[in-house]
Amino acid sequence: MRRHVSIHPRGILRQLVERIRGWEQTLVRAGEDLPLVVISYPRGRRVYAEALEAALCQTYPRLSAATRQEYAAELPRLPSLLVALLRGRNACTCLGHYHRPGSEGRLARRLGADTGLRVGEIDLAIDAIRRWEPFPLAALAARPAPADRQELEDFRFHAALLAVFFHELEHLAFPERAEGLVRRRSTDFYAASLREFSQQLGLSYGI
Ligand SMILES: [Zn+2]
Ligand SMILES: [Zn+2]
Repeated sequence: MRRHVSIHPRGILRQLVERIRGWEQTLVRAGEDLPLVVISYPRGRRVYAEALEAALCQTYPRLSAATRQEYAAELPRLPSLLVALLRGRNACTCLGHYHRPGSEGRLARRLGADTGLRVGEIDLAIDAIRRWEPFPLAALAARPAPADRQELEDFRFHAALLAVFFHELEHLAFPERAEGLVRRRSTDFYAASLREFSQQLGLSYGI
């Protein structure tokens, strides 16, 4: 989701801190149809990795086959190994980026060299995605019970993570595809996910 490119002093400072702190990695096997994901996150930010892992391993399988089918054409075209770099937010304010072949970072290049596999790379801005709310939950026709409210909020965050994840994966699979189309599809995917889950909770969602 590239909107613009700019240099931002706070962003540079954040990058410096991340470099000093170092990064940690964890491997996620999300399912047969998805690539293996090496999640790389700044040391001390394990919650970022846990959020993406939960979205891929718990929330994604709960979606109906029809919703998951939306990205069926992309999956076979993806590299078998994917590096997902997680940050809180991006200096450019984008929710995520895909990295064109040849522009991957050291980790992806090394994994590619060591395994002989094709390795793709994306980055995701976890805190920014958590705040991204194109369809506010206030659109819910019925008020969820407090217990459901937390569950719905967690689901909403995971659905948003999945939407940005698949958005960047679609760019990786079809680099020539226009941003407008890719964005419309990921927003539709997000809306369909929310609608489904609201129905599971017995709520109707006004999208
Ligand atoms: Zn995009
Ligand atoms: Zn950007």
